[in-house]
Amino acid sequence: ENLCQALPKLELHAHLNGSLSMDTLKKLYKMQNPNSKSSEDTLMSIKNFSSLGECFKVFNIAHSLTTTPEAVFHSTYDTVKEFKEDNVIYLELRSTPRAIEGKMTKQEYVEAIIKAFEICKTDFPSILLKLLISINRKQGYKAAQDNIELAINFFKKYPQYIVGLDLSGDPMTGSTFLELLRKARLAGLKIAAHCAEIYQMLSHLSHVPNETETIDILKFKPDRLGHCTCIHPTLQGSSKLFNLLLDSKIPVELCLTSNIQCKTVSTYESHQFKYLFEAGHPICLGTDDKGVFHTSLSHEYKIASSTFGLKQEQLLKLCLSSVEYTFATLEEKQALLYEIEKFSKECN
Ligand code: 5GP
Repeated sequence: ENLCQALPKLELHAHLNGSLSMDTLKKLYKMQNPNSKSSEDTLMSIKNFSSLGECFKVFNIAHSLTTTPEAVFHSTYDTVKEFKEDNVIYLELRSTPRAIEGKMTKQEYVEAIIKAFEICKTDFPSILLKLLISINRKQGYKAAQDNIELAINFFKKYPQYIVGLDLSGDPMTGSTFLELLRKARLAGLKIAAHCAEIYQMLSHLSHVPNETETIDILKFKPDRLGHCTCIHPTLQGSSKLFNLLLDSKIPVELCLTSNIQCKTVSTYESHQFKYLFEAGHPICLGTDDKGVFHTSLSHEYKIASSTFGLKQEQLLKLCLSSVEYTFATLEEKQALLYEIEKFSKECN
């Protein structure tokens, strides 16, 4: 129990606006509505949802509160602080730049995050910070192009923080913009792509993974994949995809609580963690949206440990192997490995 909390962990799958805690949301609400007394009621309505679609509505609430550079700054600062308090030593945050008319440009959105990172570097030196610029597949080609251009420009200026792109957003719509991602990769950015998150409904009887899209993503070979929920050796029509995934050796970011709460996986026991772990495929644990799903990275480790019977050694190995999947520099990776090994020695 305490071990999961104490472990020096690496968070590789966290969306900024989904990570905001209730305390941060309340603070932002007060900043936006200094005279209102009803923050609690307004914010409490965000708690209940029953599908991935519902969960996407919840993001609207966080988004309605992060409409100025100041709010984005506070969101980032608080989120880093909370991860640090959970003994996360490396945080790769991801976020979709948003422009709000008259209040904020996409450029200012990213600058606010970097400004918070700079201050966190002094305030919380035990956590190393990186940012992935997200592309929301629902927002279309032009927005994807803009975000990639923005990411490339920021990458030139702040290579210590901006390390890659994340393809996310509502998987029920939109496209994967692989040709645009190819351009970004040529510019030196790493790519993390959400993959096979939901089933395509062909009739009321058959739910199958969106095979063509998944194959296209796997062929593109992103540096990491998110979820891969519908790639299972036991699912009808999915064993081909499972073998393709194993052959690709691309690390998969797994978010247990998120998948259960969004009901894309029915039980922890049947989570794809089991199959990927047993196959020895590279995996790491992430929170996805710790605010929305009321979780923490320690809690995700606890669930993995109790559901799949992971021992101390295996939990440490999960942390150690995550280092390899980060988008950090070689020197940074060595420092992270050193931290975990030091902890491991202290345990024995
Ligand atoms: P933001 O990018 O605004 O900082 O964080 C919230 C956004 O992250 C959401 O609007 C959505 O685009 C993306 N996101 C968060 N969780 C998930 C998830 O589980 N699946 C996908 N595909 N996108 C997500």
